[in-house]
Amino acid sequence: MNARRLIPVPALTGMTDNYIWLLADSGGRALIVDPGDAAPVVDTLQGERLTPAAILLTHHHPDHVGGVGALIERYPGMEVIAPHDARIVAASRHVLDGEQVYFATPQADFEVIAVPGHTASHIAYFGAGVLFAGDTLFSVGCGRLFEGTPAQMLASLDRLAALPGDTLLCCGHEYTVANCAFALGVDADNVDLQQRSAQAKALRARSEATLPVSLAQERATNPFLRVDAPALREACGAALGAEPARDRVARFAWLRQLKDEYRAAQQ
Ligand code: ZN
Ligand code: FE
Repeated sequence: MNARRLIPVPALTGMTDNYIWLLADSGGRALIVDPGDAAPVVDTLQGERLTPAAILLTHHHPDHVGGVGALIERYPGMEVIAPHDARIVAASRHVLDGEQVYFATPQADFEVIAVPGHTASHIAYFGAGVLFAGDTLFSVGCGRLFEGTPAQMLASLDRLAALPGDTLLCCGHEYTVANCAFALGVDADNVDLQQRSAQAKALRARSEATLPVSLAQERATNPFLRVDAPALREACGAALGAEPARDRVARFAWLRQLKDEYRAAQQ
């Protein structure tokens, strides 16, 4: 795509810190990803003089689909692409793992990747050098396991982490600063993580997004992509004992559980 532009639109701020992503071309046509709310999307489309081309949805949660109805009403006939899930009633096309989704304008070709874990039918879209990961992979974190097992989520994250390192990760929430604080508790000596934490804090202090971020950087800093790294093996071994910590699914499950408890303690 020529001179494409990625625009994170902050939405539902204060409650969930969602990002709705717009991918626009130089001709002013834009894809809309996970519009949890319609108003900020309409504002941004108007402010940037963009015409909406289609909506891509990663999963059924209201903070990702809540604005779809109002957007279709305002822009009738717009295609809405979604996973196979009866809970997403507004979809005009349901896509499966491995399916290609092509748009003529803006010119973009996406591959659908099934990533169960956060929800059973969660999908990600990979194309145009960009990964729309919804609530599966966050910067320096991952989604909570509402409908999947640790083994499923780990397999999903493995697939995303295997994409090219220069892929730009666009995820559904601005959680990076809190994620770095947690990650430093289990991976304290990771210099890349220390730098990411400082950078994220500086960006947020200026009310700027910490996203998108490259997958290469995520592989270096995200503890959920680093369950095989010596530091994470050691931290898990210290908590669970050497024998259980030999199993990478067990390490992932331990880390996800620790994060859930950490979050609960913050609230
Ligand atoms: Zn979600
Ligand atoms: Fe979400």
